[in-house]
Amino acid sequence: MLAAVLRQVGDDNLDVVDNLEIVEPGPGQVQVKIEATGLCHSDLSMMTGVIPGLTPAVLGHEGAGIVEAVGEGVTRVEEGDHVIVDWSPPCGTCSYCGDFGAAHLCTDGLGSIAVTANFLEGGSPVFGFGGNGTFAEHMILLEAGVIKIDDDIPFEIASLIGCGVMTGVGAALNKAKVQPGSSVVVFGCGGVGIAAIQGARIAGAAEIVAVDLNEGKLETAKGFGASHAVTPDQLDAVKAELTGGEGFDYAFEAIGKSATMRAAWDAVRRGGTACIIGAGAVDDFVTLSAFEIFSTDKSFIGSYYGSGDNSYWFPRLLRLWKAGRLDLEGMISRRMKIDEINDGLAAMRAGDVVRQVITF
Ligand SMILES: [Zn+2]
Ligand SMILES: [Zn+2]
Repeated sequence: MLAAVLRQVGDDNLDVVDNLEIVEPGPGQVQVKIEATGLCHSDLSMMTGVIPGLTPAVLGHEGAGIVEAVGEGVTRVEEGDHVIVDWSPPCGTCSYCGDFGAAHLCTDGLGSIAVTANFLEGGSPVFGFGGNGTFAEHMILLEAGVIKIDDDIPFEIASLIGCGVMTGVGAALNKAKVQPGSSVVVFGCGGVGIAAIQGARIAGAAEIVAVDLNEGKLETAKGFGASHAVTPDQLDAVKAELTGGEGFDYAFEAIGKSATMRAAWDAVRRGGTACIIGAGAVDDFVTLSAFEIFSTDKSFIGSYYGSGDNSYWFPRLLRLWKAGRLDLEGMISRRMKIDEINDGLAAMRAGDVVRQVITF
């Protein structure tokens, strides 16, 4: 089968091959025929080593497809079901899956799949990114790693839900809990930032300011609900105009850099909330003074994978899409086949696109 493989961390390109095989689904596992997969910035982050992972690896973690085989004991899905990949499957038994009621924070599920190689190349093991690997025609997932959806949802629409859209919309609704009539600023207008803008719009924010270095993306952001869209050097002026200089109620950082995380903190008013969605590096430190943390009464919060239960939220997000309240078609900047994936990665590095989707 076709797949795009990262040979080693630091490589600029993925190796598109046609000779990969997968293992049989074991107990509690399902085999999925991937129909569509989005390119996410986290795939680039594994290539550069910002996000650690085992190689060689099939990258990709934002996907949707059809269950084509199930292992022993699988009860939640059956052959023929249409599903979205949940790249961080809950283990079902740890404290987060149980007492804490926060299955999205389970690390045992991801920890177990990330070290298991389900792909084979000439008999040698090939891992998947975080145990996933949606840049392949077929893959093996835990039963808990697939969320069933209605058969009439286009796969390219469904695939976007699996990472960027859940992450951005969920941060606004579940973690920051944006209130009606509030003011919001979003740093970064890639897929996750656009999803956060849409989440703030769905929550009823009065003003939503999009910030991006790429001027081409600013008009795009307005199409998704941003009331204002500016380059970073223009932010202070719009902050003064909209908030009297006090700052916004909420800021979202969807880039993953300490400088923009600090800018998000600076952009919110006293008592406001800076919500960090971007996946940054382990050695990139944000500096906040010991004085300002208590004296400003601000909240500096993280949000991981949309901070909600994916089995609840994936279908909800699709209902919002069906109702015309969540624009997913518009987020697809480009459709491509897997042999064009390195062009797609280059476009993502250049910051020219919201989301690109590969269909098999
Ligand atoms: Zn992602
Ligand atoms: Zn767990």
